[in-house]
Amino acid sequence: MSELNLILFGPPGAGKGTQAERLRSDFQLPYIATGDMLRGNVKDGTELGQKAKEYMDRGDLVPDELIVAMAGERLDEEDAQDGFILDGFPRTVHQAEALSKQLSQVGRRITAVLLIDVPDEEVVRRLSGRRVCVKAGHNYHVEFDPPKHDDVCDQDGSRLVQRDDDKPEVVEKRLNVYHEQTEPVVHYYDEKGILRRVDGTRGPTEVHDHIRAVIATLRLEEDV
Ligand code: AMP
Repeated sequence: MSELNLILFGPPGAGKGTQAERLRSDFQLPYIATGDMLRGNVKDGTELGQKAKEYMDRGDLVPDELIVAMAGERLDEEDAQDGFILDGFPRTVHQAEALSKQLSQVGRRITAVLLIDVPDEEVVRRLSGRRVCVKAGHNYHVEFDPPKHDDVCDQDGSRLVQRDDDKPEVVEKRLNVYHEQTEPVVHYYDEKGILRRVDGTRGPTEVHDHIRAVIATLRLEEDV
């Protein structure tokens, strides 16, 4: 069976992280989320983190050259050689081109781009209620997936907070950035014939089933 090099695509709050967690255990693939990597760098106070923070706090994209280098190094690591799940990268056409170049140099390519479609008003509802634990980033939602005790993580007992970039004015900015800079990447992959759309307004299990069906179909097509 050939490698699965997947990109999870969609606006912030589409449920990419939730789906990635499930796909990771379905297919034993490493999960590479550039947003998580950047937040790790900010927390550790690295040079990259210091450079990225101001962009992230505003809801802007971090400059391509920083991201392309960071994601490229991660994709070169041993565990990503037989497949991966990318989340949050690429976010510009320039990043998509850099990724395709890096992969083609070693005879690889993206298997599929799974676009999880969610309308803007639903994104706002989801992100404004999202809470994450300070220790490990476990996700909750005040309305749809509340913790057992207010503001405390069920899994590790740490404090739950709202991400700075989930505050309403920043969410609006992130959505604008998504439509202006990231949506062109959808067309880029659609033209290559590897884009698959999934209705992200459904519940997590239905979305997961749909994605698995898409992957099963891709594998069947490969075998013929
Ligand atoms: P996320 O958790 O994926 O929503 O990412 C959080 C923030 O990290 C974004 O709003 C951007 O500021 C930054 N970021 C993450 N991935 C990228 C990327 N591929 N290109 C540029 N900025 C990114």
